Amino acid sequence: MSVKDYIRTIPDFPAPGIMFRDVTTLFGDPRGFRMAVDQLLLPWAGVRINKVAGLEARGFILGGAVAHQLSAGFVPMRKKGKLPGRTIEQAYKLEYGTAVLEVHDDAIRPGEKVLLVDDLLATGGTAEAGLSLIGQLGGDAVGCAFVVDLPDLGGRQLLETTGHRVHALCS
Ligand code: AMP
Repeated sequence: MSVKDYIRTIPDFPAPGIMFRDVTTLFGDPRGFRMAVDQLLLPWAGVRINKVAGLEARGFILGGAVAHQLSAGFVPMRKKGKLPGRTIEQAYKLEYGTAVLEVHDDAIRPGEKVLLVDDLLATGGTAEAGLSLIGQLGGDAVGCAFVVDLPDLGGRQLLETTGHRVHALCS
C-alpha cells in the first residue's frame, strides 16, 4: 500500500463539486500514518530545521509528528482569533472571499530555519500566507511539505516561482 491508498475521497464536501481528499483515514491507520510522516521527512535529511510550522488543522497533526522526528519546535499557524498571545496576521484568498492566518509574533526568531507542513496543496494560497508569516518574523523557510498536491490548481508552481522547495507525497 502507498500513502495514496489510505486517502479517502468524499464527493461534494464541503460544497457541491468539490472532491474532498480526506486524510483522516491515512492518520487513522498505524502503518499509513508512520509511512506519511517518514516520507514527509525524506528530502530534509541533513537540512538544519529549527521549527516546523503547521497549518490549522490537519497540518498540526502532521507537523507535530514531523517536528518530533526532527527534534525541532512546533509553531501553530491558526485561523484568526484562536491564538491567545500577540500575533501577526496575513490575509489570503479562498475560492469565495478571504481568510486570515495568524501566528504568535514570538514563535519564530530571526534567522531560524522553518519547514511548513500541511495535508494538501491546492491553489497554494494558504501555504503562501504561512510562508509570508515566516518571512515577516525574519524566519528562513527551507521548504514546504504536503501529503497531497492537486497539480491542476497551480499551488506548486506558485510556491516554486517564489523560490520555495515543495515536497508532496502524492498527487
Ligand atoms: P489552498 O490554499 O487552495 O492551497 O488550499 C489548501 C488548504 O485547503 C489545505 O489546508 C487543505 O486542507 C484544504 N483543501 C483545499 N482543497 C481541498 C480538497 N480538495 N480536499 C481536502 N482539503 C482541501
